[in-house]
Amino acid sequence: MCGLIGYVGDEPAAAVLSGALARLEYRGYDSAGVAILNDGIIILAKDKGKLADVIKACKIDTLVGHVGIGHTRWATHGGVTKENAHPHCDDKNQIAVVHNGIIENCVELRARLSRKYKFISDTDTEVIPHLIREYIDSGLTFERAVFAAARELKGSYAILAVSMLEPEKVVAVRKESPLVIGLGVKSNYIGSDALSFLPYTKNVIFLEDNERAVITKDKVTVYNEDHEELTQKVTQIQWEWKAGTKGNYDYYMLKEIEEQPQVIRQSIMQDNNLINRMAIEILRARQVVFVGCGSSRNAALIGRYAFSKIGHVFSDVILGSEFGYFSESVDKRTLVIALSQSGETADVLDGVKQAKTNGATVFSLVNVAGSSLARMSDKVLCLNGGPEIGVAATKSFMAELCLLYLLAFAMDGTLEKGRGMLRDVSDLVEADLPRHSSRIPGIANRLKEREDFYFLARGINFAMAGEGALKLKEISYVHAEGMPAGELKHGTLALIDNGTPVVVICPTDYTFTDTITNIMEAKARGAHIIGISNSAESVFNDCIMISKVDEVLYPLVTTIPLQLLAYHSALARGLDPDKPRNLAKSVTVK
Ligand code: GLU
Repeated sequence: MCGLIGYVGDEPAAAVLSGALARLEYRGYDSAGVAILNDGIIILAKDKGKLADVIKACKIDTLVGHVGIGHTRWATHGGVTKENAHPHCDDKNQIAVVHNGIIENCVELRARLSRKYKFISDTDTEVIPHLIREYIDSGLTFERAVFAAARELKGSYAILAVSMLEPEKVVAVRKESPLVIGLGVKSNYIGSDALSFLPYTKNVIFLEDNERAVITKDKVTVYNEDHEELTQKVTQIQWEWKAGTKGNYDYYMLKEIEEQPQVIRQSIMQDNNLINRMAIEILRARQVVFVGCGSSRNAALIGRYAFSKIGHVFSDVILGSEFGYFSESVDKRTLVIALSQSGETADVLDGVKQAKTNGATVFSLVNVAGSSLARMSDKVLCLNGGPEIGVAATKSFMAELCLLYLLAFAMDGTLEKGRGMLRDVSDLVEADLPRHSSRIPGIANRLKEREDFYFLARGINFAMAGEGALKLKEISYVHAEGMPAGELKHGTLALIDNGTPVVVICPTDYTFTDTITNIMEAKARGAHIIGISNSAESVFNDCIMISKVDEVLYPLVTTIPLQLLAYHSALARGLDPDKPRNLAKSVTVK
């Protein structure tokens, strides 16, 4: 969370930084700011609020200078105020810093530094410019002072710093929060992701943990912790810039939902050898554990059923933030399959690091090639979904499902047949789309006053109930619970009342009969049943029709209607589905 960008070059920094921050806004949008060097001084412009409003209010576009740093914030320490917005400066206004992460020893550092320097924010970040100042006051150059300060920081951080003392450069350090350098012509960039500077360059260097970098217009130098210069590993980003734009859509979320038929086709284009080798290792492992958070966890829960039903392998799913607590039972016979769209999810990275220390093998499914998770994994599958900007995961979830199915088919020795089935499903998903787009807004509108929703399903569809509820919660701010339909009578049924919306995913598959029984129980208590099925059952008050597919593949055809229900519910309530309150994408803090 939090988006950082640094720029040094011939172009006006303000325009480059503003554009980059817009592309980083998915990482945080409670406040924004820039620091631009001009004529030996730092010009600071920042405020709380959405980026477009901050740019306008602070007249960021009019700032002059060719070196600068920028930030979009997702607050961890200190409320959403102008003072707490980044960049933060030392009290002589000679150093400006932006930060992504959490400084765990900020209380001790603040106690020490506030004896000498004046603090004006409540953030953990503000200790950094004062600490750099302290090192400069003790005789170090700015560059060396940044590196010395980093050595004192505990926690996670990506930091960019500029100073009027060495005005031609941006200095960067990275520990557990992502930083990518972009190599341009007479211009260099550094951002939280490559998307931030993708319109300018595709040639990038991913900084590793504890690496540092100094960026000037003509030169990029990367160092290790001991200040030894490192050989640079330049890679080429495959994404096209226009894939990261909204096109004619009002919201990224809708664009990304509608891209999914194509995403299915792209995601299944994988190297057969790699998939087969992974399948063999899965079959040989003593235990297989999926690790993920949010929608990736729900995808893993479906993968778990697919592994059992198609691949005949039992597996478990553990939340990223809880995985570390299972350390005692993770060893070299454990195979971990980690899922993360960004590949930077701190909760997942943490658990995976621990598992690696215990000797486990790690496979990962990521959308961002070159991400931290990809780099620490033994084998990696790329989702091939293209940039996902909407905060709520949509196409990355679909792509994760496809890859999990591919692995399951490979475990069964039916990879090619399975791939064909997935390709056929992509056509059916596409054919269903216009029907969903005309039917679902009306349902969402009718239910816009309801504050509690329940989602039910069984078997391989059960996690879709969880995913449908999660989407609704995150972008419509409606209380929603997803659960196995059989579980309803064990407690939650007490909450069902006249008109309570109950969304039920019940295709005519192996779960159908039992699920219908559970719906009848809810209906008898007055529930308003929204059925998602290939059969229009009379028990449904509202019906969302899906295509008939093989019974293991229903999650692929129920994904879009559930996402659209959440999307249109957000619109019906006057909310921005791309920027849900309190949330941000790429959760790089614990
Ligand atoms: N801890 C910093 C703040 O609250 C940065 C937060 C983040 O990286 O999400 O401002």
